[in-house]
Amino acid sequence: NLSPIPLAIRTACPYCGVGCGVLATPVGDGAVIIAGDDAHPANRGRLCVKGSALGDTLSLDGRLLHPSVREDGALRQVSWDAALDKIAGGFRDIIAEHGPDAVALYVSGQLLTEDYYVANKLMKGYIGSANIDTNSRLCMSSAVAGHKRAFGEDLVPGCYDDFEQADMVVLVGSNTAWCHPILFQRISAIKEARPEFKVVVIDPRRTATCELADLHLPVKPGTDVWLFNGLLSYLARNGKVDAGFVAAHTSGFDGALDVAEHDCADPLAVAKACRVEPEALLDFYRSFAATTKVVTAFSQGVNQSSAGTDKVNAIINCHLLTGRIGKPGMGPFSLTGQPNAMGGREVGGLSNMLAAHMDLDNPLHRETVQGFWQAPRIADKPGLKAVDLFRDIEAGKVKAVWIVATNPLVSLPDANQVQRALEKCELVVVSDIVAGTDTNAFADVLLPALGWGEKDGTVTNSERCISRQRAFLPAPGEARADWKALCQVAQRMGFDGFDFDGPHQIFDEHARLSAYRNTPAAAPRAFSIGGLRGLTARQYDELEPVQWPVSPGGAGTARLFADGGFAHRDGRARFIATATRAPVHMPDAEYPLVLNTGRVRDQWHTMTRTGKAARLSGHVSESFIDMHPQDALKFGVREGELARVSSQWGAMVARVQHGGGIARGGVFIPIHWNGQTASDARVGTVVNPAVDPISGEPEFKHTPVTIERF
Ligand code: SF4
Repeated sequence: NLSPIPLAIRTACPYCGVGCGVLATPVGDGAVIIAGDDAHPANRGRLCVKGSALGDTLSLDGRLLHPSVREDGALRQVSWDAALDKIAGGFRDIIAEHGPDAVALYVSGQLLTEDYYVANKLMKGYIGSANIDTNSRLCMSSAVAGHKRAFGEDLVPGCYDDFEQADMVVLVGSNTAWCHPILFQRISAIKEARPEFKVVVIDPRRTATCELADLHLPVKPGTDVWLFNGLLSYLARNGKVDAGFVAAHTSGFDGALDVAEHDCADPLAVAKACRVEPEALLDFYRSFAATTKVVTAFSQGVNQSSAGTDKVNAIINCHLLTGRIGKPGMGPFSLTGQPNAMGGREVGGLSNMLAAHMDLDNPLHRETVQGFWQAPRIADKPGLKAVDLFRDIEAGKVKAVWIVATNPLVSLPDANQVQRALEKCELVVVSDIVAGTDTNAFADVLLPALGWGEKDGTVTNSERCISRQRAFLPAPGEARADWKALCQVAQRMGFDGFDFDGPHQIFDEHARLSAYRNTPAAAPRAFSIGGLRGLTARQYDELEPVQWPVSPGGAGTARLFADGGFAHRDGRARFIATATRAPVHMPDAEYPLVLNTGRVRDQWHTMTRTGKAARLSGHVSESFIDMHPQDALKFGVREGELARVSSQWGAMVARVQHGGGIARGGVFIPIHWNGQTASDARVGTVVNPAVDPISGEPEFKHTPVTIERF
């Protein structure tokens, strides 16, 4: 009478871009045992505290279980058919009267690639507008833009194994210990095995990551371009130019060096601009120059800036100059924030991209995508990026928006403006897994979505590794997959091309498009997963983690550019001239402090899932304002007491604390807390809406603020 041994389902963690493999074993009554997947290349069996607590986040408390539509000011439960008819009819009427650019989708790096693919196809190929953007705009769009400028495509050259093969890792604008914990554990293990392995941390804050650092450069916020232009100049002046590589595989070196030398040739001047000790700066420059195998990993501290794209290119320039790219143990490496920001990039989830890494402004690419889809039209100009999208909603130019798997009222900068926009918008559709979010309060139609453990599809992590997320729980209530809801609306709008039976068919179409006319004579591009075409439902279900590009035999690719061949038409990488410039808004007498935002170790985004796990809340139980004790004294606020932080855009209240390693003149506030608490703890209300002119990524790391007792 032995009971059957429960089967573990292999899936992937839904949190950060490390993309760890998870074994989930349902054991009855909704309980699920969670363990790391030994066979997954990203984590090899390890999980961080967030991943380990996934089983505590699966209760149906607070879940959105039924569709509802707003009538007479209140949301009332309706059938799926009624909700879908309302969306399709609303979108159709608005498009008929105001054109396709009057509607928009705002989606998320939490979506699976298949959801993302369908959303992008509907918007760009059938509605005919590129007004689909994603919350990934807020975390890695500067990396995307930097990659495209340097390499010709949004390509991450290396892989996690490179960290282990390196002799030095530089972590720039990344609290890796808290935000990419398993990668940090891998780096820690290297340091333990090889004490001579050097770790450099470049961050205005002395974060937990610094515990591993041989050298911490606490740069003044916003000065990364000075630092890396100075490094470029130092390398050139100290005989570190890989002349053969630069001549054979790059262009633009002289121009980039000229610009770097303009104000960054003197390390003393750079140290002054970056507000770091000259000897520490020179230690970094000497170490970088002397070490061939260097990985420079960067994250939101680089990307979330009005100069984010230039910061990315200033880093890449140093790797191009030394030829340290595409080879084991070296290269620039973008650490993606979300679990599937990369998958969204693959299918064109950003408003300035087409599917399969093709470009909206390339007629050949547009023709390729439209021809493959047999679509009635194709967007022919970039759509609105996230911040501009909500501005145009408030201005009345965009009249309908469908928000999927994200909470912009908490996560976008100038969040009060987002609220005004949604109040004004004629039709707000929200698809979510939870009922009571700040954004849902403004929905005209609210759709229940499947959550982690209930949905099936793929995600791609920071090292281009595609993994399956697999369902192991039944759909709660009437919740449906986002791809399904999108297809059903598309069909109601009269569009063919959305009759998918399951995510495997969507994935197959995505794989075929990535290889379609992908030849030197047609529309060549480096991204392709053509080797994954034609998978049956069963093969798709059994898909093992694989790094794209995937060749016809199904083999993945650990590194790109090993042969020096880049994705620009001429095969050469580009040095980009990155002139130094200050953040858009600088502190002044009224707002003398600089606000920096970021994550805490045990929470994720707006806490709709991690907030359910008591063991995660134990780490940090409420929002806080971290600041230097002398600044607290100066501004008359005390540790443990409530204070109000305000900028010219808005204000929020939290408790003051010290000890977060912030230098004088700065404050740090976490991004997770929302407006559902007693006092509105949304830091997004305070953050300035300045964006990078190329990537459109907001400047979350540099808002002038002031603070007072509450
Ligand atoms: Fe999940 Fe990231 Fe932790 Fe891995 S490191 S378990 S992907 S949160």
